Amino acid sequence: MPEIRITKKFHFEMAHVLHGYDGLCQNIHGHSYGLEITLSGKPINSPGHPKDGMIMDFHELKMLVNKHIIQVFDHSLLISNRFNEEQQKAFREVTSRLFVVEFQPTTENILVYIASILLPLLPENVSLYSIRLYETATSYAEWFATDNP
Ligand SMILES: [Zn+2]
Repeated sequence: MPEIRITKKFHFEMAHVLHGYDGLCQNIHGHSYGLEITLSGKPINSPGHPKDGMIMDFHELKMLVNKHIIQVFDHSLLISNRFNEEQQKAFREVTSRLFVVEFQPTTENILVYIASILLPLLPENVSLYSIRLYETATSYAEWFATDNP
């Protein structure tokens, strides 16, 4: 069977602040993030199998990404633990969906974080090939498995 890649697109709204940044992103602001997940694998070739002809059911991929990524990030405020306790408390007062991470929440770092969440969750017969995360319509970062063996 040939090796095939499939991609599903997702979308979420999220606010972030870049700690110590020397530009506008040092302020709380939001983005409409676009996320594209690309998997590779060989389609199942098994007559009568409910997923015959598929690498992974798009619906299953959608459920998995929605549960572990979209629902976690959507309409949250993502900040780094570089902000001290007092500052984190102040952020917590303006949102019930504060999400504190151990990295600066740039597109690049969020992308790596998403890859680390997804990698252990995928079925054995498929590989995570790449992830593309759009911060704006004209800016995106990409993660490729081949670059990160
Ligand atoms: Zn931003």
